[in-house]
Amino acid sequence: MTNAIHIDGRAGEGGGQILRTSLALAALTGRPLRMDHIRAGRRKPGLLRQHLTALRAAASLTGAEIEGAELGSGAIRFRPGPVRGGEHTFAIGSAGSALLVFQTVLPILLRAPEASVIHFTGGTHNPWAPTFDFVAEVFAPMLRRMGVDLELTLERHGFYPAGGGAFTLRMEPATLGPLTGAEEQDLQGMDAEILVANLPFRIVQRESAVLRARLGLDDRDIHPRKVASAGPGNVVSVRFRGAVPERVTSFARKGVAAEKVAEDCARQAQRYRAHGAPVGEYLADQLLLPVALGGGRFTTGPLSSHGRTNVETIRAFLGSDALQVAVDGERTVVSRPD
Ligand code: AMP
Repeated sequence: MTNAIHIDGRAGEGGGQILRTSLALAALTGRPLRMDHIRAGRRKPGLLRQHLTALRAAASLTGAEIEGAELGSGAIRFRPGPVRGGEHTFAIGSAGSALLVFQTVLPILLRAPEASVIHFTGGTHNPWAPTFDFVAEVFAPMLRRMGVDLELTLERHGFYPAGGGAFTLRMEPATLGPLTGAEEQDLQGMDAEILVANLPFRIVQRESAVLRARLGLDDRDIHPRKVASAGPGNVVSVRFRGAVPERVTSFARKGVAAEKVAEDCARQAQRYRAHGAPVGEYLADQLLLPVALGGGRFTTGPLSSHGRTNVETIRAFLGSDALQVAVDGERTVVSRPD
C-alpha cells in the first residue's frame, strides 16, 4: 500500500487551500491522507459547506473512503482509489464558492482515463475566491497552453449571499505539458467589465466614472452587463490583454459605496500594471500545482503567504524539489526543475 501522508492544517496561513491541494494530490498520487486542524487559521475553522463539497467531490472521482465528512469537522481521512471521469454534479447547497470546488476537482481530472462533464452549482462570483470569469478567461487559457482540452460554460450567475449559480466543465483526458510564455508580460491593452444583477443601473454609471478618472479608460472600454441571478450582485473587473491574460476584481458589499468598489479595482489594476510581472498574485497561487505537475515556469511578484503555504503543501506530497522558487527583488520565478 502506498504510504499515507499526514498534513497539519495549521501550517502557514492555515486556510482552505491546504485542504484543496492536499485532496487533489492525495487523489493524484493515490496516497491515503490524514488531515487535522483544518482551517485552524480562520475565524470559522473546520469544514464549511464549500470544503465539504470539495471533499465529497474528490471522493466520488476516486471512489475514496472518507471519515470526518461533516460541517465544522477539523479532521478528515481520505483513502482514494483510481481516478475516474464521466458525468457528475457537485452542488454546494449554499452561496459558497463553486469555483473552489472546481479548483479541487480539476487537477484530479487530469488523471482521468475518460472524458468528463461536471456540473457545479453554488456561488460563481464570490469574494475571496476566483470568479467564474477569472477561471474561464485567465486560468483556463494557461491550462490550454499546457495541453489541457477544457471548456467552461456559465449557465447562471450566483453572487454572495444568495448563490444559486451554475456552470459546467467539459474536459478530455489530458497529458499536462510545461507552462511557457509566462515569463514576461507584453501588455496590449485593458478594458473593464461591470456586472450588475437586481440592482439599480446607476451603480454602473458611478463605477464607470471612477474607472475613467483613475485608469484613463473611455466608455468604449467599459462593458456593463446586466445579468440574471437569484439575488443582487455587482462585480467590477479590469481585464488585461497580453502574453498572459490577467484580471483584477472587486466585489460590491452592502454598506460600501459603489465608488469605493471601483476605486479598489482601479488600485489593483494600477498595482498590476506598475509591477510588470505577467502573473498576478492569484493566478500565481493557482498555477503552482499545474507547474509542479506539468513543468515549465512563470514570473510573478512577491509570493503571498497563501502562495507560500501552497508551495509547502505541494512539496509535502511531491518532494522538496517539486517547485523551485527564485526571488529576485520584487520578482519571483517559479519553476519545476528539469
Ligand atoms: P483560501 O483563502 O485558502 O480559501 O483560497 C482562496 C483561493 O481563491 C485562492 O486560490 C486564491 O488564489 C483565489 N482568489 C481569492 N481572491 C481572488 C481574486 N480576486 N481573483 C482570483 N482569485 C482569487
